[in-house]
Amino acid sequence: MEATADDCCVKVAVHVRPLIGDERLQGCKDCVVVVPGKPQIQIGTHSFTFDHVYGSTGSPSSCIFGECIAPLVDGLLQGYNATVLAYGQTGSGKTYTMGTGFKDGGQTGLIPQVMDALFNKIETLKHQIEFQLHVSFIEIHKEEVRDLLDPTLSSKPDSNGHMVKVSIPGKPPIQIRESSNGVITLAGSTEVAVTSLKEMASCLEQGSMSRATGSTNMNNQSSRSHAIFTITLEQMRKLNQAVSGDSNLSESMNEEYLCAKLHLVDLAGSERAKRTGSDGMRFKEGVHINKGLLALGNVISALGDEKKRKEGVHVPYRDSKLTRLLQDSLGGNSRTVMIACISPADINAEETLNTLKYANRAR
Ligand code: ADP
Ligand code: MG
Repeated sequence: MEATADDCCVKVAVHVRPLIGDERLQGCKDCVVVVPGKPQIQIGTHSFTFDHVYGSTGSPSSCIFGECIAPLVDGLLQGYNATVLAYGQTGSGKTYTMGTGFKDGGQTGLIPQVMDALFNKIETLKHQIEFQLHVSFIEIHKEEVRDLLDPTLSSKPDSNGHMVKVSIPGKPPIQIRESSNGVITLAGSTEVAVTSLKEMASCLEQGSMSRATGSTNMNNQSSRSHAIFTITLEQMRKLNQAVSGDSNLSESMNEEYLCAKLHLVDLAGSERAKRTGSDGMRFKEGVHINKGLLALGNVISALGDEKKRKEGVHVPYRDSKLTRLLQDSLGGNSRTVMIACISPADINAEETLNTLKYANRAR
């Protein structure tokens, strides 16, 4: 698929995981119905239509990458920013889907597939184009940014004897900055230059472990934090050898520089977000609500509404660190894919319905 700026900027897919061990043991029933041959999902009396539905009786999960994510990798090579968001309650399969855990999803998740596809493309183009790749991996917890690739992180035993990762004291906090041309950067976070698939995979592994190590000791921090794996691709193209008939090329230049980034986001568990439910209304804030998820819902809803966009309605990026960080990769020319992850189990029906409502609002 060719990336164009007019492509609808937000696509929403639902990923239904199978019933897992615990749910089977508890005798849970599958309460989610996928309408065969349609991206339509029913729960109780509610029915929703999305761009895609995977798992259960929908399309096989193995199609998510090819249908939803590969076009973003193509876009990245053409200079378009993109964001993939995994949304859902804790245990719904976000980490499995993204591949940000090294337990089981690590080999098959979307991030490893993105890396594979990207390096395959680069391999075929590297004779004509000079590429530079950087990776960062951060976590946002309680509106604070934590660098998962911080080389100064060291493992120390906590009071229970568990090893925890601690940063050297006195390190300045990571700051989100916006340059005059609207490019968002993270000042103070590690940007690892990578030249091979192996190096990139090792960043994913290192950051995932760092996240997991923190989580056992911080009241399951990982379910309350957003993990953002970002791939930045810079290219220098020689004009006379330009590969695609790219219309962005300026005639007076004989070299073209492109820089784009792809954010792959394993969002915090959505179970704490209280919602108003009604379309177009802002989520009401309550206790313990994840600021990032609230802001994200409002941003995506503002972006998805054609009419609002044309009227130049205010997009509330500044309401959270998450949306601020993703600002230049949500909306505009960038593409966004939200994957709503759900459990089919009847005990999770209420949260599943909440997730589908949130995802529906993004369309
Ligand atoms: P989350 O990150 O949303 O909290 P996880 O990705 O950790 O959820 O998934 C919870 C459990 O469900 C894990 O044990 C995981 O292996 C399993 N799981 C999730 N998605 C799938 C899937 N599509 N197929 C099989 N098992 C899955
Ligand atoms: Mg997880």
